Amino acid sequence: MKYDVIIVGAGPAGSTAAYVLARGGSRVLLVDFKRKVGSPVQCAEFVPIQISYRFPEFFTEETVAQKIDDMVHLTPWGEVVRSESPGFMLRRDRFDHLIADLALKEGADLMLRTLFLGFEDGKIWLEHIDTRTRFPVEADLVIGADGPRSRTARITGDHTRTFLTTAQFTMPLRETLRDLIIYFRDYIPGGYGWVFPKGELANVGVGIDPDFGVNVMDVLRRFVKEVVADGFVEEKILSRTGGWIPAEGIKRPFRRKVLLVGDAGGFCHPITGGGIANAVLTGAMAGEAILEGSPEDYEEEAMDVFGETLTKAALKRVKYMKSWDDLEFIIPRTWIAFDEYWKEE
Ligand SMILES: Cc1cc2nc3c(=O)[nH]c(=O)nc-3n(C[C@H](O)[C@H](O)[C@H](O)COP(=O)(O)OP(=O)(O)OC[C@H]3O[C@@H](n4cnc5c(N)ncnc54)[C@H](O)[C@@H]3O)c2cc1C
Repeated sequence: MKYDVIIVGAGPAGSTAAYVLARGGSRVLLVDFKRKVGSPVQCAEFVPIQISYRFPEFFTEETVAQKIDDMVHLTPWGEVVRSESPGFMLRRDRFDHLIADLALKEGADLMLRTLFLGFEDGKIWLEHIDTRTRFPVEADLVIGADGPRSRTARITGDHTRTFLTTAQFTMPLRETLRDLIIYFRDYIPGGYGWVFPKGELANVGVGIDPDFGVNVMDVLRRFVKEVVADGFVEEKILSRTGGWIPAEGIKRPFRRKVLLVGDAGGFCHPITGGGIANAVLTGAMAGEAILEGSPEDYEEEAMDVFGETLTKAALKRVKYMKSWDDLEFIIPRTWIAFDEYWKEE
């Protein structure tokens, strides 16, 4: 088998790259070890509205669960800070599925239950998980879109080693909400708790820095008690998920034959954990650079667009968030809704 590009991972980054490339006439193979694109969901599912201007075709009645107006921050010192945050709560399973579907309609090939193993003899080695069969595929380029614990990044050099740990329940809302609720608490070290509304339901979760040595499920259970007591949700767990969030910033996205996009390249915000929009955008950028015949230009463009923001946030995480004591000092310096975040240091 010979392709122009093999894309490892059919999340938003990989499927967007496949869509852009196939639409531009490239022969593309998209592989993922999952049984079904988009499932299981490991996400709180919010995206800012701006990404819908770039790819309106990804935002349909199917993929959007509801609109969001603001982000409301509940601080431990009693202040409530509201900031505009227009966007959408997605149905991530359907969102990821729709993008992959668009790629297939443009002519991309998709192999599920297929694991990327590595490179040998100038070939890319894959494995059908069900049959345990290993087989080689040839391609000029590989896009590593294989998420936070990316194998493509690991075997080609620098890769993310520092992650946030998350845990999330989906629970019934008592009343529908139009805002995202963010809790900063001393018992959620190096991170925050969230209540993100999805129609009648809410994603209620926590992300923490595992270096503090606390158990993320204990933190989530304590957080859920507080959110229930505050009257946001009923005490009923409908589903649970979690996952890793890269917390170091960008990892050299162009490596000769390999381009890293989305979480695989560390394009997730190291403090907020937001990464869906960046995954879509870097997937598109990589695809476009390849179509233009200069894949190496992807790195410069990705750094131009994301370098400053993600590097600044990664540095702030190291500078301020390794202790978790004076939250009235730390939070305003590390969270974008506060004026202190933007002050020169
Ligand atoms: C609990 C949680 C909540 C979050 N909430 C938000 C949020 O509200 N908003 C937001 O913007 N971001 C959020 N994020 C981050 C967001 O989910 C990611 O940034 C986003 O999914 C990155 O997309 P991606 O395509 O780069 O990677 P992924 O979505 O992780 O997709 C990678 C794909 O690669 C496949 N794969 C991995 N390794 C291999 C391999 N060796 N072979 C074949 N396939 C492979 C995986 O099966 C997966 O399908 C959250 C993350 C977590 C964990």
